[in-house]
Amino acid sequence: MARVFNFGAGPATLPEAVLTEAQRELLDFGGTGMSIIESSHRGKAYSAVHEEAVANYRQLLGLSAEYAVIFVAGGASMQFAMVPLNLLGEGHTADYVHTGAWAGKAIKEAKRVGAVHIAADTSEAVPARIPTPADLDLTPGAAYVHLTSNETIAGSQWKGFPDTDAPLVADMSSDILSRPFDVERFALIYAGAQKNLGPSGIALVVLRRDLAERASGSLPAMLRYATYVEHDSLYNTPPTFSIYLMMLYSRWTLKEGLAALHARNVEKAARLYAAIDGSDFYTGTVAKECRSDMNVTFRLPSDELEALFMREADAQGLTGLKGHRSVGGLRASLYNAFPSAGVDALVSFMKAFESRRG
Ligand SMILES: *Cc1c(COP(=O)(O)O)cnc(C)c1O
Repeated sequence: MARVFNFGAGPATLPEAVLTEAQRELLDFGGTGMSIIESSHRGKAYSAVHEEAVANYRQLLGLSAEYAVIFVAGGASMQFAMVPLNLLGEGHTADYVHTGAWAGKAIKEAKRVGAVHIAADTSEAVPARIPTPADLDLTPGAAYVHLTSNETIAGSQWKGFPDTDAPLVADMSSDILSRPFDVERFALIYAGAQKNLGPSGIALVVLRRDLAERASGSLPAMLRYATYVEHDSLYNTPPTFSIYLMMLYSRWTLKEGLAALHARNVEKAARLYAAIDGSDFYTGTVAKECRSDMNVTFRLPSDELEALFMREADAQGLTGLKGHRSVGGLRASLYNAFPSAGVDALVSFMKAFESRRG
């Protein structure tokens, strides 16, 4: 059976090597005579997996001892709530940069918890864009500043990050480990795993240890960062199979190397943007300097042509190109694991479709 080119935004394509390895050791993990799924989360076999995952992320992100790496169930959406629940104390304000649908969801949750100030709002901009650091109206003494490094739905991405006095918090769900960056500028980073890290339903959270102590005493244990930090994400039974898959993926990421992955990601996206820009039939939807290397969004002249494009592409094994239901259009997600050959196939298909229907 042939694997398709999966352009889906998330859950997204995984490295084939990761899937094959998981398949190979599914029934008997490392000579234990059982699957890792069936293994105790306190046992030797799983402990080694858990520790390697943490160590790999520490290495990939270049983390100092000041930072903790934790795994939290509930994906990025749970972090929309946990960030303010832990960091936004009463009488304080959190600054949020509103860049699109995902930032909007984070803002909605934060407002349930406390005072939120919108430091800049480009969520309705056409073409889509990210604010410049000069656009930001930051609150002196803010509890933290929150941004969304890559707006998966709009297809826009921060190319550099602002300097802030308040702790900087980022939702990096759709571009974490896609490029090297200076982690020390951030106080907390979270990412739903289903784009660049593994399966859905779990988030990787990297946070400065001092921040874990900020939450009020009344916050339940499972919602407190301190619980995860103190117990190394093993206070309860964690999603062990998901963490195992993340470990395999992090191994692959280490082997490929962040710099090489970044170069490949830039090259993949550039080839697709060149195909869009070189045609009057396809139109990009994002200001050029803010275009995402992960999610390439574009339109065709009509909804009918877009529907036809997707149907025909799908029949050729190019799947998951439908834009998010809230914005329509097309979206090609080109995460770390997405092969370069898939971009070639899409660009050829685009040329052929245009000459037939353009
Ligand atoms: C996918 C995504 C989310 C939501 O992730 P869930 O794991 O479904 O909660 C949040 N933020 C961004 C930027 C995303 O791309």
